[in-house]
Formats: sequence, C-alpha cells, structure tokens
Amino acid sequence: MYQQLLNQCTKANATLVAVSKTKPISAIETLYDVGQRHFGENRVQELVEKYEALPKDIKWHLIGHLQKNKVKYIASFVHLIHSVDSVGLLNTINKEASKNNRVIDVLIQVKIAQEDTKYGLTADEAMEMIRMNTDQPDLNPNVKIVGLMGMATFTDDQTQVREEFKRLISLQDTCAKELNMSLQEISMGMSGDYELALSEGSTMVRVGSLLFGSR
Ligand SMILES: *Cc1c(COP(=O)(O)O)cnc(C)c1O
Repeated sequence: MYQQLLNQCTKANATLVAVSKTKPISAIETLYDVGQRHFGENRVQELVEKYEALPKDIKWHLIGHLQKNKVKYIASFVHLIHSVDSVGLLNTINKEASKNNRVIDVLIQVKIAQEDTKYGLTADEAMEMIRMNTDQPDLNPNVKIVGLMGMATFTDDQTQVREEFKRLISLQDTCAKELNMSLQEISMGMSGDYELALSEGSTMVRVGSLLFGSR
C-alpha cells in the first residue's frame, strides 16, 4: 500500500504525511526504513515521546487540535502545525517559536465540512487572520502561514466531498487575488478521500489507517 500511495502523491506533487497516532514506534520505524520522513500526530504528549525515541531527521506534523498551553512542548522541533484556528494560538506559537529562535510554519484550519465540526475557522475568519498577518508582518514574525487545512465530511457522497475540497481551493485563490498572498500548501485528504483530494489540488495528504491499519 505504501508504495502505491507514495507514487500517487509523487505524481500529484503532494507530500504524504503518514498519520501514526496511536501506533507504536516500531510501526513508524518500518516506514522510516523504506524512506518515509513526514509523520503526523494529533496529541502533543504522544508526539513528544515519539520525537524523542526516533531519528531526528523525521519531519513531525501536528495535525489535531492544539491547546495554547501545550505549544511549548513541540516548539523546538515541530515541522508544520496544521491546525491553527485562533489568533490566540497563532500568537502563542509565535512566542514559543521566538524563544527557540526559529520560525514555525503553520496552516490555518478551515471548516469546509457540512457536518457540525468543533474546530476550524470559517472562510471569512481565515481570510481575516491571514489579512492581519500580511498587513502587520511585525506582529508575529516567528510564524509563517504557508497554507490551509481542511477536513471533508465523513460520507460516501463523493460529490459533497469534492464540493468541500473545492471550497479550500477557492479560498486559496481568494487569498491570492485579494490579499496578494500566495499560500502554497493545501492539506486535505485522508484514507477515505485522498484520491479525490489529490485530483482537486491537495499538496499534502494525511493518511493513517490505510497505511497502518485501523485504530
Ligand atoms: C486521524 C487523522 C487523519 C488520518 O485519518 P485516517 O482516516 O486514518 O487516514 C487525518 N487528519 C487528521 C486531522 C486526523 O486526526
């Protein structure tokens, strides 16, 4: 499965993030040994434990909801935070990145699903946050907004999922036109919908169960 998935991502110019949450170190090592370097986790404590136990050239992605008071534990090493959904969190990431003398790349999580989800900003809120960041570059010099992240509704209705992915791409277009801000990364697509996501322009798929088995 891994090689097939990797080939699909390579062909689409997308990064494969292997979502290893709840899976043991040994499962990560198996993929590491065949060359996989991008791994995603959704809990800070688990991410820190795995970071400490594994080779340091792994690029760690934080993909789940992040509490402000936990940013400090990952600020020194995290590669990309996919789930920024408030100005407060953005400010905290900036502060902790600054303490570590680095710039942390982040994605803004946008609510694209029809179903009621707890996390993510509306398209308008996301635009507002990106606008603030481009208008006042001195405000958060140690964070860089590099793209958008979204999760489609968990449904078999391909038409609906496609519509939801299109919303994220359209927001990327709007940012380019209205804010003159080019956001490179679009993190969308999971085990059930990654092919659709790639065909709609995803640059980063987050795949767990398809690679590691069900949780
Ligand atoms: C768990 C998780 C994934 C991976 O889900 P699978 O269906 O196992 O591929 C992707 N993104 C986020 C935010 C997750 O929490």
